[in-house]
Amino acid sequence: MSSDGRSGPRRIAVIGGGWAGLAAAVRATEHGHRVTLMEMAAHLGGRARSVEHSGRSLDNGQHILVGAYRDTLALMRQVGVDTDAVLYRQPLAIVYPEGDGLRLPSGAPVTAFVRGVLGWTALPWRDRIGLLALALRWRLNGFRCSPSMTVAQLARDCPARAYGELIEPLCVAALNTPAGQASGQVLLTVMRDALFGARGAADLLLPRAPLDDLLPRAAARWLQDRGAQVVCGQRVMRLQATESCVLVDEQAFDQAIVAASASEAARLLAPAAPDWSRDVAAIRYQPIITAWVEAPQARWARPMMALRADAWRPAQFAFDLGALGGPAGLFALVVSGAAAWVEAGTDATRTALLQQWAQAFPAREHGPVRWVASRTEKRATFACSPDLKRSPAAVHPRVRVAGDHVEGPYPATLEGAVRSGLAAADGLHAAA
Ligand SMILES: Cc1cc2nc3c(=O)[nH]c(=O)nc-3n(C[C@H](O)[C@H](O)[C@H](O)COP(=O)(O)OP(=O)(O)OC[C@H]3O[C@@H](n4cnc5c(N)ncnc54)[C@H](O)[C@@H]3O)c2cc1C
Repeated sequence: MSSDGRSGPRRIAVIGGGWAGLAAAVRATEHGHRVTLMEMAAHLGGRARSVEHSGRSLDNGQHILVGAYRDTLALMRQVGVDTDAVLYRQPLAIVYPEGDGLRLPSGAPVTAFVRGVLGWTALPWRDRIGLLALALRWRLNGFRCSPSMTVAQLARDCPARAYGELIEPLCVAALNTPAGQASGQVLLTVMRDALFGARGAADLLLPRAPLDDLLPRAAARWLQDRGAQVVCGQRVMRLQATESCVLVDEQAFDQAIVAASASEAARLLAPAAPDWSRDVAAIRYQPIITAWVEAPQARWARPMMALRADAWRPAQFAFDLGALGGPAGLFALVVSGAAAWVEAGTDATRTALLQQWAQAFPAREHGPVRWVASRTEKRATFACSPDLKRSPAAVHPRVRVAGDHVEGPYPATLEGAVRSGLAAADGLHAAA
């Protein structure tokens, strides 16, 4: 209902143009409302956008999507993105430079997992059976565990090598939180829906176009073509929700979706929802460092490689961007759950990353390597720990919150952000 009491198209403000805000704006427009999207940065996309770095257009951080990202893929297609063209699809493989690791064959998920584990020949037979027994136990328990359990506790019976080369990397890639601090229940949910979900759900979808081309650019065009307003460079300073309207920096709307970062949402909603705001302001974060190097002679068998990470080796994954449509010879190294490396400092991290590269890809085979740039996102995602309290989306009859931090079963991901945006728009649309 609009502020004058009539039903029909409403004026809806969407605050924040990350993937949650874009999803919310598209869905609200689809519902027939008049949408104004306000983004404080000069560009849309939030944490998943392209940025200029050392004179090159690079992504804000290397992103991976998986086949289970149902709503994200549908949204991309809805706004006209050819997902087959911009994403490189491969069955899940956590494979190390020497060529060993878990490779799932394509096919039905459970069979693929069993065949993948049995085919992991570098793992002793006893360990392969131990890993399968553990996965079977998780499945029989309905992928549920005590909410207070960490991933390390959940997987305490896992054979050591399978833990270090599969569970830890999966955990840090999906939850961006080290296994000793990460929520066992959230990892189980991810495994249920990705590894043991629908056919193809576990497939890795690696961007082979800049992040801007995966959604933000096409979504902006789609919105503008349908009469929505997309305003960049406008930081919303004040939101006042009343019984009859929502004032966004003095501009009146019928409803609003706050899809800003968690800290900004907490600030904007402090007057309307003080308890909600306090909980959201208390969220703790985990950083991600992405580093780019040039190694013109390096040749990999696959575009994504797992790396052995420990206290001296920061990166868990590396990507051959040349094989993914980027400049030949450019590689990205990803350090997830990177709090310790942020503390160690930029120089120490750079030295350690170059040493890790040299060890994993010796110069005699892969030629020389040159540092290009690095980027640290200190608040890349929330720390996905068992004690994390996530807050609901409905904060006021006229206001919904969207964003990866909103209550939900998944870690901070593009899919979590998109689903929250769609749900916020649907929720407001359904509100009387
Ligand atoms: C380095 C890195 C790597 C990642 N890797 C992956 C990955 O591999 N796979 C995956 O699924 N996810 C990954 N993520 C997480 C993913 O990027 C996020 O979950 C997702 O982008 C969150 O989207 P969002 O819309 O909820 O929030 P944001 O992207 O934070 O969007 C919020 C937007 O609101 C704007 N804003 C804030 N305050 C205001 C205001 N007052 N007025 C107007 N605008 C405002 C911000 O500028 C921003 O654009 C990664 C994140 C990072 C940083």
